[in-house]
Amino acid sequence: MTSNSLSGKTALVTGCGRGIGKAIAETLAKEGADIVVNDIDPDAVEKLAKDISGFGGRVLVCCGSVGVTPDVTAIFSKIKKEFKRLDILVNNAGITRDNMLLQMSDQEWDQVLNVNLKGVFYCIREAAAMMKEQGYGRIVNLSSVTALTGNVGQVNYAASKAGVIGMTKTLARELARYQITVNAIAPGFIETPMTEAVPDDIKKSIVRGIPLGRAGKPQDVANLVKFLSTDDSAYITGQVISCNGGLYI
Ligand code: NAP
Repeated sequence: MTSNSLSGKTALVTGCGRGIGKAIAETLAKEGADIVVNDIDPDAVEKLAKDISGFGGRVLVCCGSVGVTPDVTAIFSKIKKEFKRLDILVNNAGITRDNMLLQMSDQEWDQVLNVNLKGVFYCIREAAAMMKEQGYGRIVNLSSVTALTGNVGQVNYAASKAGVIGMTKTLARELARYQITVNAIAPGFIETPMTEAVPDDIKKSIVRGIPLGRAGKPQDVANLVKFLSTDDSAYITGQVISCNGGLYI
């Protein structure tokens, strides 16, 4: 892949204040893209915007929750006003509210489904309208290995991430006519603030089950997002690509 393969392209990365999203925003910015940074934590995105503004492309800060329609409308209005186009949407924002089924509250179920599934729907609906006009788009959705295997204590999260896979396959079919590709990534166990909360003994046992012998890094996922964002992946759509060190084969 040539360097600066994304010059002239505009990318929105949701939930990029930390973790995998931050690595994705940094990576796409290094490739020359103009980046729209989004998170619910304004301090985190302001800091990230400052850090990546030296990479050459323009940076636009759009705070707000992907799970709240007026926030999403405001984010896309700002993108239309400032950048006029959107080539790449990375639906990265995601949350966990783990509990066993019999203890899980309506609120824990609703919060996770709202951000992880409805948030992806809201953002794609807005982005696809812009991409249709352009006759071009790349949409990358963050699913999870949990959607493929299930995971005790994560019925809400697994359902949301499996929903993302159904959405990915359906929208790949619907949007292909506009030359918009839609793919999903299913990361395995990646070292981020989200997985920091996992107790050490459980972390060790998960890593023991990873054939490549280590937890993933945010950069491992960001490298795949970069590939799915460029023309090197122009003929790939509707796919779920695992990035898991062999954790699930
Ligand atoms: P993370 O460290 O928790 O980062 C997620 C980011 O999303 C945070 O900055 C968070 O903001 C932001 N966010 C939360 N709710 C939001 C909302 N409603 N609107 C906008 N931004 C919001 O998570 P991560 O580990 O980097 O995960 C990134 C994505 O990969 C998620 O979709 C996750 O489900 C998926 N994934 C992760 C793993 C893993 O092992 N880490 C594995 C499989 C899939 P705050 O910091 O303010 O909460």
